[in-house]
Amino acid sequence: MTDTHSGSCLCGNVRFQVRGQLRGVIACHCNQCRKQSGHYFAATNCPDDLLTVEGLDHLRWYQSSQSAKRGFCGTCGSALFWKDTSAASTSILAGAFDKPTGLRMERHIFCEFKGDYYEISDGLPQEL
Ligand SMILES: [Zn+2]
Ligand SMILES: [Zn+2]
Repeated sequence: MTDTHSGSCLCGNVRFQVRGQLRGVIACHCNQCRKQSGHYFAATNCPDDLLTVEGLDHLRWYQSSQSAKRGFCGTCGSALFWKDTSAASTSILAGAFDKPTGLRMERHIFCEFKGDYYEISDGLPQEL
Protein backbone atom coordinates (compact mmCIF):
# COMPACT_ATOMS: atom_id res chain seq x y z
CA MET A 1 0.00 0.00 0.00
CA THR A 2 1.37 3.38 -0.94
CA ASP A 3 0.92 6.75 0.69
CA THR A 4 -1.94 8.89 -0.53
CA HIS A 5 -1.92 12.62 0.08
CA SER A 6 -5.03 14.67 -0.50
CA GLY A 7 -5.89 18.32 -0.54
CA SER A 8 -8.22 20.94 -1.93
CA CYS A 9 -8.78 24.58 -2.64
CA LEU A 10 -10.43 26.77 -0.01
CA CYS A 11 -14.02 26.23 -1.20
CA GLY A 12 -13.49 22.50 -1.78
CA ASN A 13 -14.67 22.39 -5.38
CA VAL A 14 -11.23 21.34 -6.60
CA ARG A 15 -9.86 18.30 -4.81
CA PHE A 16 -6.73 16.31 -5.57
CA GLN A 17 -4.96 13.13 -4.54
CA VAL A 18 -1.34 12.16 -4.97
CA ARG A 19 -0.24 8.55 -4.75
CA GLY A 20 3.24 7.87 -3.45
CA GLN A 21 6.09 9.86 -2.00
CA LEU A 22 6.10 13.63 -2.35
CA ARG A 23 9.17 15.74 -2.98
CA GLY A 24 10.41 18.15 -0.31
CA VAL A 25 8.86 21.59 -0.42
CA ILE A 26 10.69 24.25 -2.42
CA ALA A 27 9.94 27.90 -1.71
CA CYS A 28 10.05 30.10 -4.79
CA HIS A 29 10.53 33.82 -4.22
CA CYS A 30 10.39 34.90 -7.89
CA ASN A 31 8.30 37.86 -9.00
CA GLN A 32 5.56 35.74 -10.53
CA CYS A 33 5.18 33.57 -7.44
CA ARG A 34 5.17 36.64 -5.22
CA LYS A 35 2.50 38.35 -7.26
CA GLN A 36 0.25 35.33 -7.57
CA SER A 37 0.46 34.21 -3.95
CA GLY A 38 0.81 37.56 -2.25
CA HIS A 39 3.97 36.27 -0.54
CA TYR A 40 5.98 33.35 -1.91
CA PHE A 41 5.21 29.93 -3.31
CA ALA A 42 5.94 26.79 -1.30
CA ALA A 43 5.31 23.71 -3.40
CA THR A 44 6.00 20.02 -3.62
CA ASN A 45 5.98 18.16 -6.93
CA CYS A 46 4.82 14.83 -8.30
CA PRO A 47 4.69 12.94 -11.61
CA ASP A 48 1.45 13.66 -13.48
CA ASP A 49 0.45 10.01 -13.56
CA LEU A 50 0.33 9.93 -9.74
CA LEU A 51 -1.91 13.00 -9.49
CA THR A 52 -5.71 12.82 -9.69
CA VAL A 53 -7.73 16.03 -9.77
CA GLU A 54 -11.50 16.30 -9.23
CA GLY A 55 -13.60 19.36 -9.95
CA LEU A 56 -11.92 20.13 -13.24
CA ASP A 57 -14.80 22.42 -14.22
CA HIS A 58 -13.66 24.75 -11.41
CA LEU A 59 -9.94 24.51 -12.19
CA ARG A 60 -8.60 27.37 -14.30
CA TRP A 61 -5.10 27.79 -15.75
CA TYR A 62 -3.22 31.02 -16.26
CA GLN A 63 -0.38 30.85 -18.76
CA SER A 64 2.17 32.90 -16.82
CA SER A 65 5.04 32.50 -19.28
CA GLN A 66 5.86 30.64 -22.49
CA SER A 67 6.93 27.61 -20.50
CA ALA A 68 4.69 27.58 -17.44
CA LYS A 69 1.10 27.81 -16.36
CA ARG A 70 -0.54 28.22 -12.97
CA GLY A 71 -3.64 26.33 -11.88
CA PHE A 72 -6.14 27.87 -9.48
CA CYS A 73 -9.74 27.49 -8.41
CA GLY A 74 -11.96 29.75 -10.49
CA THR A 75 -14.51 29.90 -7.68
CA CYS A 76 -12.46 30.73 -4.56
CA GLY A 77 -9.19 31.80 -6.20
CA SER A 78 -6.91 29.40 -4.32
CA ALA A 79 -3.57 28.85 -6.04
CA LEU A 80 -3.07 25.11 -6.38
CA PHE A 81 -0.68 24.07 -9.15
CA TRP A 82 2.30 25.23 -11.15
CA LYS A 83 3.17 23.36 -14.31
CA ASP A 84 6.13 23.46 -16.66
CA THR A 85 4.18 22.83 -19.85
CA SER A 86 6.91 20.58 -21.25
CA ALA A 87 7.31 18.45 -18.11
CA ALA A 88 5.33 15.38 -17.09
CA SER A 89 5.11 16.57 -13.51
CA THR A 90 3.10 19.12 -11.55
CA SER A 91 4.05 21.32 -8.63
CA ILE A 92 1.39 21.48 -5.93
CA LEU A 93 1.15 24.23 -3.34
CA ALA A 94 2.05 22.78 0.05
CA GLY A 95 -0.62 24.75 1.87
CA ALA A 96 -3.37 23.13 -0.21
CA PHE A 97 -2.76 19.70 1.35
CA ASP A 98 -4.90 18.39 4.16
CA LYS A 99 -2.98 17.77 7.37
CA PRO A 100 -0.95 15.91 8.32
CA THR A 101 0.98 16.57 5.13
CA GLY A 102 4.19 14.74 6.03
CA LEU A 103 5.94 17.46 4.03
CA ARG A 104 9.21 19.20 4.91
CA MET A 105 10.70 22.41 3.53
CA GLU A 106 13.81 21.69 1.48
CA ARG A 107 15.25 24.92 0.05
CA HIS A 108 14.56 28.40 -1.31
CA ILE A 109 14.93 29.45 -4.95
CA PHE A 110 15.00 32.79 -6.81
CA CYS A 111 15.96 34.45 -3.53
CA GLU A 112 17.35 37.51 -5.30
CA PHE A 113 13.77 38.40 -6.28
CA LYS A 114 12.28 37.97 -2.83
CA GLY A 115 10.13 40.65 -1.20
CA ASP A 116 12.04 43.29 0.73
CA TYR A 117 9.86 43.03 3.84
CA TYR A 118 11.04 39.65 5.16
CA GLU A 119 14.19 37.65 5.75
CA ILE A 120 14.76 33.98 5.03
CA SER A 121 16.10 32.70 8.31
CA ASP A 122 15.27 29.00 8.51
CA GLY A 123 18.82 27.90 7.69
CA LEU A 124 17.82 25.99 4.56
CA PRO A 125 19.81 26.35 1.31
CA GLN A 126 19.10 29.54 -0.63
CA GLU A 127 19.60 29.75 -4.39
CA LEU A 128 19.70 33.05 -6.24
ZN1 LIG B 1 -12.18 26.68 -4.66
ZN1 LIG C 1 8.47 31.31 -8.72
